[in-house]
Amino acid sequence: MVFDPAVSPFRSALMGRIRGRNTGPELKLRQALWKAGLRYRLEGPTRLPGRPDLFFVRAKVAVFVDGCFWHGCPEHGTQPKTRPEFWAAKIARNRERDGQVDAALAAMGWHVVRVWEHELRQDLDGCVARIRALVKPTGLAERG
Ligand SMILES: [Zn+2]
Repeated sequence: MVFDPAVSPFRSALMGRIRGRNTGPELKLRQALWKAGLRYRLEGPTRLPGRPDLFFVRAKVAVFVDGCFWHGCPEHGTQPKTRPEFWAAKIARNRERDGQVDAALAAMGWHVVRVWEHELRQDLDGCVARIRALVKPTGLAERG
């Protein structure tokens, strides 16, 4: 058995993964960006590494919404009591892959923004501001 989806608190994380790209936190961010006048796309122009959740193609900004559990958030990344080594290794691999994806995207000239799932709950405006700063940098907007 790889995992027991009935064991909380992982059930919601697992369900989030199953739902994939349309998780609650991601939809919340999309709604806030739209209200802020930032027009993202859900698909990139090419097969970019790591499947970013949102794209701003002209500004070359790729946005990821990282689940606190799967990506090992420092605030909510507590180790499960069942099979802690298994989960620690899995999350470490996820983090390593995140780093590789960020480097690959940067090498292709993309800006990478990663927002934690909990940041969307605690500071949605701050997340939007971080993205806006890259998509519409002050003083450069007129040149675009
Ligand atoms: Zn978190």
